[in-house]
Amino acid sequence: MREFDYLVIGGGSGGVASARRAGSYGKKVGLVEGGPMGGTCVNVGCVPKKVMWNAASIAEAIEFGPDYGFEVQSAPFQWARTKEKRDAYVARLNGIYHRNLDRDGVTEIKGWAKFVDERTVEVNGERLRGEHVLIAVGGVPVVPDVPGAELGITSDGFFELEERPRRVAVIGAGYIAVEMAGIFNALGSDVSLLIRHASPLRSFDPMLQENLTDHMVEDGIHVESCGEVRELVKEENGICVVRKDGSKIGKYDCVLWAIGRRPRTESLGLEHTRVQTNEQGVIEVDQFQNTSAPRVYSVGDDTGKFELTPVAIAAGRRLSDRLFGDQPEARLEYENIPTVMFTHPPIGTVGLTEPEARSRWGDDVRIYQSRFVNLFYAMTAKKSMTAMKLVCVGKEERVVGVHIIGMGADEMLQGFAVAVKLGARKRDLDDTVAIHPTASEELVTMK
Ligand code: FAD
Ligand code: NDP
Repeated sequence: MREFDYLVIGGGSGGVASARRAGSYGKKVGLVEGGPMGGTCVNVGCVPKKVMWNAASIAEAIEFGPDYGFEVQSAPFQWARTKEKRDAYVARLNGIYHRNLDRDGVTEIKGWAKFVDERTVEVNGERLRGEHVLIAVGGVPVVPDVPGAELGITSDGFFELEERPRRVAVIGAGYIAVEMAGIFNALGSDVSLLIRHASPLRSFDPMLQENLTDHMVEDGIHVESCGEVRELVKEENGICVVRKDGSKIGKYDCVLWAIGRRPRTESLGLEHTRVQTNEQGVIEVDQFQNTSAPRVYSVGDDTGKFELTPVAIAAGRRLSDRLFGDQPEARLEYENIPTVMFTHPPIGTVGLTEPEARSRWGDDVRIYQSRFVNLFYAMTAKKSMTAMKLVCVGKEERVVGVHIIGMGADEMLQGFAVAVKLGARKRDLDDTVAIHPTASEELVTMK
């Protein structure tokens, strides 16, 4: 039986980061991965998604060409060519991951791990044992248990599409739904976003929900509040979505389920360990990423908190710093985590929403808001609004939330997230000299 100081299950964002950090401390590390190295983010997540968002952004820019004096002819998008280049880029990244693991002395084991006891897993019939064991198995898209569900694809299937579907229904109301609806739409599909409630992104600040819905509708996306889907049926000219009341919507060439992800823990053999999960299979961890089994840890999406790559990476690295790097207090603080949605236009958000702040501090909350047309659109027939909100608290007006939707919001947020983390007050933003002409200067000049 091969033995390791640290045995990591899952070669995604969290597992790779933690394994490499442990390797850099000179530990003997084994990393088990059943699929392509890099996990969700690299293969079927952030990276190929951002490539498609970039393509969609170029399609939008081309539209504005004539407004800026360019004689632009029609520029048909070649989906298959972009996919081929995108796949090649992902394959290059897989190679870089293998080389980096090798550089940090991590031993890769190809295959699917299953616990046989708390410290031992079996992979392709071989037993591997770790003095410490990390579970970083991520998640998979949820497909509902309704008739005809298999007629739809998930985000994984999105990355397999060889051509642009003409009529698309995206079912869901979270990150993936709004991002993929936007990409399809900008690249020329006729898109319906089918949501259960009144608005997408219900857990985000209401200002973001309202503005995003307006942008989507203005851009031609059919945002339809249609309750839960009862079934999908295939008809002669496409797929129909059947609502609970039996009425049909459609037809579509592609239906995409984007209704959340679930942890990949059900066939991991956790019953042979004391690792506790909740009903959804989410692994329960404390603030130091300890599971309920001694010397078994978990980071990333399978712990159900902030399913974001930098979160999985940060938690994984800090865990290895704590276990092997002589930093006994190292842990990730799950607060003020900035996040961006690559919608059209993008959204950047950090900290508390206005309702969250008001439920904690009531009338002690002061809101600053701005809504304006970015100078970019001074030359264009089509205008697009940027909206910003600062959520401030107490006499000092500490900034506890920053919410932005508009061109450049994705790149604007990181610096403001640092300010929030440092406890910036509204006065500190006011004292910062603006950068002109930009959209971000609004954040330091709000009245
Ligand atoms: P994963 O990256 O999912 O890695 C888990 C790995 O474990 C997988 O490679 C899997 O094959 C392996 N595995 C599972 N079970 C076993 C087993 N039994 N044995 C061996 N190996 C196993 N986040 C962002 O921050 N920004 C974005 O823009 C962004 N865009 C996204 C777009 C999409 C479409 C999706 C789906 C996700 C996106 N995310 C984004 C989320 C991000 O991808 C995840 O939060 C991140 O990948 C989680 O890392 P992880 O290590 O927890 O899991
Ligand atoms: P999310 O959890 O973001 O959103 C799923 C939403 O779908 C729910 O909030 C719910 O909204 C709706 N929903 C749930 N069940 C159903 C149902 N049966 N029928 C219709 N709608 C339903 O999940 P995603 O799959 O979009 O993404 C998973 C995670 O991946 C995200 O939470 C995020 O952490 C990460 N991610 C990050 C990205 C980024 O950083 N840019 C991009 C993509 C993903 P409601 O209750 O309002 O109906």
